[in-house]
Amino acid sequence: MTEDGGGADLIPGLDEVPRVPAEKAPPGKGAAGKAARKGPKKGARSPAAERPIARVAVDMSLPHLDRPFDYLVPAELDAAAVPGCRVRVRFAGQLVDGFLLERVEESGHGGKLLYLERVTSPESVLTPEIASLAREIADRYAGTFADVVRLAVPPRHARVEAEAAKDGGEAPEEPPEPPEADNPWLEYPAGASFLTALADGRAPRAVWTALPGPRWAAAIARAVAVTLRGGRGALVVVADGRDVARVDAALTAELGEGLHVALTAELGPAERYRRWLAVLRGRARAVVGTRAAMFAPVADLGLAVLWDDGDDVHAEPHAPYPHPREVLALRAHRARAGALIGGFTRTTDATVLVETGWAHSLAADRARVRRAMPRVRYVGEDAQLARDAAARTARLPNVAFEAARGALEHGPVLVQVPRRGYVPGIACARCRTPAHCATCQGPLALPSSHAAPYCRWCGRIAGDWHCPECGFFQMRALVVGAKRTAEELGRAFPGVPVRTSGREAILEQVGPDRALVVATPGAEPPAEAGYTAALLLDGWVLLGRPDLRAGEETLRRWMNAAALVRPEGPVVVAAEGALPAVQALVRWDPVTYAERELAERREAGFPPAARMASLTATPAAIRELLADARLPDGAEVLGPVPVPRQPGAEGPEKERALVRVPRSAGQALARALKEAQGVRSARKAAETVRVQIDPLELI
Ligand SMILES: [Zn+2]
Ligand SMILES: [Zn+2]
Repeated sequence: MTEDGGGADLIPGLDEVPRVPAEKAPPGKGAAGKAARKGPKKGARSPAAERPIARVAVDMSLPHLDRPFDYLVPAELDAAAVPGCRVRVRFAGQLVDGFLLERVEESGHGGKLLYLERVTSPESVLTPEIASLAREIADRYAGTFADVVRLAVPPRHARVEAEAAKDGGEAPEEPPEPPEADNPWLEYPAGASFLTALADGRAPRAVWTALPGPRWAAAIARAVAVTLRGGRGALVVVADGRDVARVDAALTAELGEGLHVALTAELGPAERYRRWLAVLRGRARAVVGTRAAMFAPVADLGLAVLWDDGDDVHAEPHAPYPHPREVLALRAHRARAGALIGGFTRTTDATVLVETGWAHSLAADRARVRRAMPRVRYVGEDAQLARDAAARTARLPNVAFEAARGALEHGPVLVQVPRRGYVPGIACARCRTPAHCATCQGPLALPSSHAAPYCRWCGRIAGDWHCPECGFFQMRALVVGAKRTAEELGRAFPGVPVRTSGREAILEQVGPDRALVVATPGAEPPAEAGYTAALLLDGWVLLGRPDLRAGEETLRRWMNAAALVRPEGPVVVAAEGALPAVQALVRWDPVTYAERELAERREAGFPPAARMASLTATPAAIRELLADARLPDGAEVLGPVPVPRQPGAEGPEKERALVRVPRSAGQALARALKEAQGVRSARKAAETVRVQIDPLELI
């Protein structure tokens, strides 16, 4: 009995296998090729004596084939074909990669099965935990198992795998006992009990509002150390390589070398795979990394940490676009592990976790916050400019100029200026409240000065708009402000060195000496002993973005910058004082802001109070998908509206539709869209529709 002759026909569900790839198979894969490859050894194949059936997840992203397939394990691969290993199988006439999920006694399918072609490596890289997590994440995001596993398991690096196999599996050392002195968690009333719960193997879950200052990394490291001492592993996800370096250093201070690894994209494939294998093989018990580390196969997970969960770089750009907040919360839940989702600010998403009772709020008391926070003042747009000529040229309000001049006597001063290139929003011409669609609450856009405003979500023309705050009926575009250059700002402070930090060149850190540090949001380097002051300029540019997260995101960027200022140091923010985000910054109270914001989103039917999916494709493809989708009750379809073309984009004009459902119907929405995608892929529809659940930016 051989696998030849029938070829692909023997795969269960062949009628669903797309013909296109099979026909595309290169010459040599036909009958002649098969005959040539069929050596005497293969001809004599017989199935393994025990559990001869392998369930294989084939690496294919087609929604209608998103399930395991059964293959026979030949006797000679019996030892190597372990659950979680990488295999090669024949599928629809092609050799494809896959993962062996499990070995079973009998196949659920009748008929003849194909043999596994090859075990690529007996290393069990897809652990049972990650495999079942991947299934759940795929379903949650209307995606496929193969897509999630591609994010979770790095490509094989054979040399590294071999070299790492040699250096053996010596047991990791015990983590040292953390010193009781200098425990950053003692600054929080619930901090000590959080650590105790981790040490005792329980599952404390907290949404953490960190005190301003540099001690957040030490606090995370301490929580990890306590978890490790309790005999469990820990996983920390942060936004970028700079934060990884900070937490890595803090972990080294707590644990010494060897118990943890840092995983970042910059490592290169070989080193990254080496470290990932150290985690897989249990030699490294703690991981800190960026986005992709959310799937790191930490053994016996006891704590999952996400720092600065509002940062948009956490958003995964590859299908099915899972967010670390969801993934880590799910992992913590499944593993009965602790969870710590924190930042200087508080997101509305994390607020949902608190309001539903999934997590507790972990914050310092007001007296402690007041001692650690900067002194924030605001200046409106019409504030008096500085009298100094150079400062006037840089359009520095007098309050900001004087605060910086005084603070520069003692050390570095941070100046945050928004990056250019934001999509300008439109707002009430009188009170600057962002303008929303009266029908769906989506943000409005003004195509040109003469055309009527329209809704970016549902496309309706907003002809009779009135401001819900002040009743005024005119709108204006919030054009991006005049560009303040670092040189311009520098001339206002003669003799002071000016340093810049932006997306192109980010400063890691600045020293304690006087300097003017001009940075765009997110690129602010910490100062060695803290900044003596900060100026947050053009705040209304951030606030005016036509994104429903604009307020929340602006507060996050302000707080992240202001948290780098020494306690009680002056911070001047250029924005109207009546705005809730400005008030939250002045009082250093992001929690009340997030709670109020969430209540308003609930009122308006916005995420995270509602669940949304965006469907992006040509209008015809969107129409087809929606016709096939059995959307849950209460689903509301907005649009489609044209998607602004990216410069240099090719192909046909695309549109975007939004589907909004109550939060409770989120699962049903994902299922319906996945099924409809399956119908399309089974029909071999030429065009794919990009489906994204909970897209971060809804502009
Ligand atoms: Zn108004
Ligand atoms: Zn609308």
